[in-house]
Amino acid sequence: MSARFDCTACGGPLILRAEGVSESLACPHCGAVLDARDPRHQVLAKYRAKLGEPPLIPIGARGTVRGDLLEVVGMQRRAVRYSGVIYSWDEYLLWNPYKGYRWMVESNGHWLLMKTLETKPTEGSGG
Ligand SMILES: [Zn+2]
Repeated sequence: MSARFDCTACGGPLILRAEGVSESLACPHCGAVLDARDPRHQVLAKYRAKLGEPPLIPIGARGTVRGDLLEVVGMQRRAVRYSGVIYSWDEYLLWNPYKGYRWMVESNGHWLLMKTLETKPTEGSGG
């Protein structure tokens, strides 16, 4: 479920993870964001100037979390402004072919592991 190709912007070697699911791919060599669904992998944007600090866990890293071997297949940096203060956090998308997806979120040194619900929650179904 991964494919290797050269970056269409700089020629650097790339690995597309979660092929068929990923919509875009960021080149770690030049900062180009490529279209993962287009077989010609056209450049969509440049991210390097906006990203700032590199991710704490590189894309493609594998590790065991709560007994499951998971691979980092994506990452997004998010932020919100509240009362004039900007709070930011990083969300890592983890994947295992048998276990599915998990989100691991890092904010100011604190980590959360989350699993997407498979069904819509109903009122009073908590606990
Ligand atoms: Zn590149």
